Formats: sequence, C-alpha cells, structure tokens
Amino acid sequence: MRILLSNDDGVHSPGLVALYEGLKGLGELEVVAPDRDHSGASNALTLNRPLTVEQHPNGFRSVDGTPTDCVHLAVNGLFDTAFDRVVSGINTHANLGDDIIYSGTVAAATEGRHLGLPAIAVSLVNNGHFHYDTAARVVRLLLEYKQALKLGPRSILNVNVPDLPWEQLSGFRVTRLGHRERAEGAVPMTCPRGKQRYWIGAAGQGGDAGPGTDFHAVREGYVSITPVHIDMTRHEALSGLREWVDGLDMTTGGQS
Ligand code: MN
Repeated sequence: MRILLSNDDGVHSPGLVALYEGLKGLGELEVVAPDRDHSGASNALTLNRPLTVEQHPNGFRSVDGTPTDCVHLAVNGLFDTAFDRVVSGINTHANLGDDIIYSGTVAAATEGRHLGLPAIAVSLVNNGHFHYDTAARVVRLLLEYKQALKLGPRSILNVNVPDLPWEQLSGFRVTRLGHRERAEGAVPMTCPRGKQRYWIGAAGQGGDAGPGTDFHAVREGYVSITPVHIDMTRHEALSGLREWVDGLDMTTGGQS
C-alpha cells in the first residue's frame, strides 16, 4: 500500500508527524504538505504562479501552496508511482459539521477522491491534551482493516477523534454531519500603524448536534466517522426547480 500523507496545518505540524510515526511500516509513506499553516484554505488551488516543492531532511516534502495544491501535485506528476490512499491530518482541531466547507484538511482528502479508494481526513477534537497518538492509532486501524469498504465514487471519510487516551475511547460511531450555529462576530482591532483590522470570529456552537451527528458522537467519547460525498447538486430540488423554471415566460418577461 502506497499512502500519501498531507494536511493543512503545515509540514512541521505535530499532528502530521504523529500520523507519519503511527503509520510507519504499514506501507510506503510519502508526505507532501503546505510549508505553513493553511487552515481554512478549503479547496483553493494556486493558479497564478508556479509552485515550489522542497524536500526536508526527514524526507517530508513541502509546497509553497495550499493543501489541495499539495495533493494535486503529488498525484499528478510529482511521483512516478501512483498512490493507493490519501490520509490528511491529523488536524489540530475538530472538523465537525459545517467546518468541512472551510477545512483544508478535508480538502486535501477530497483532492484524493479520484484515486478510487476512500481518502481519509482525520482531526483531533482538541481539548488541550493533544492525544495525536490516539488519532494516529485510529487511522492505522482503519487502514489495516482487511474488509473492503465500498463508499461509491467521489467519497471520502471524515474522521474526528476525541482527545482521549486510547483506552478511554467509547468506540466508533458512523455519523452524519451536524450543523453549527452562525459564527461569532468579526473582532475589530487597531493595528500598530493605526489602521482598522478584523479577526474572523470563532465558529458557532453545534446547533444541529443531536444523536446521529458527528458533534454528538465525539461528545460521548466516540470516534466519529462520516462518509462525505462530493456532489453539490441538490438532487431532491431538481423536479421542483424544473417546474418553477418551466413557468418562466420568455415571451414577455425579462425586459425593462
Ligand atoms: Mn488545520
């Protein structure tokens, strides 16, 4: 098994190092990660300049670009041999519910979805104990599992691991993504040169976070595993929208 590791926290992130250490011996590992923290980069690709890849003394490669750039390069030309899996993480913080829209961790995994095997995004639901070792062991267990998983095309697994010692995990729960309440307001501040600046406010609390959701599972000490499908069409809305569009009158409407 040839596994590509990436993340959005950057090539020096302890979560990435823990993931690498935890998966050693499982297969051939290659690490391609951003040269700095790109949390919140979502699926951004760098299209306005060429990218530089650097190899570090520990064998990891860094790219002066986004998480998606890293995986895109790695599977489209940086290596002669193809990968079987992509694992992205271990992110320093949770990626629950709406977080995944913004997440560079999840984006790196979704960029690997074309490989035909489930890519995995893994995040630590950090409460200050930094049990990356637990999250790495979860990933290893998933990758070692011999029973094939058929998720369907364009799908990944979004895994969130409670920040607990392995022995204290409650188990695994398959979940759906919950939803967060609206984010807190932007935080204004004045920079040392007297200009007005703003920090993006904190993410909202779990709003839709009841039983069955990823929020609920990690709160109960379970590893949350959500199958995520990259298909933004709202299929249930197609027929209603068709009827609505059929009612548009091209003969008389749309002119001032
Ligand atoms: Mn991150």
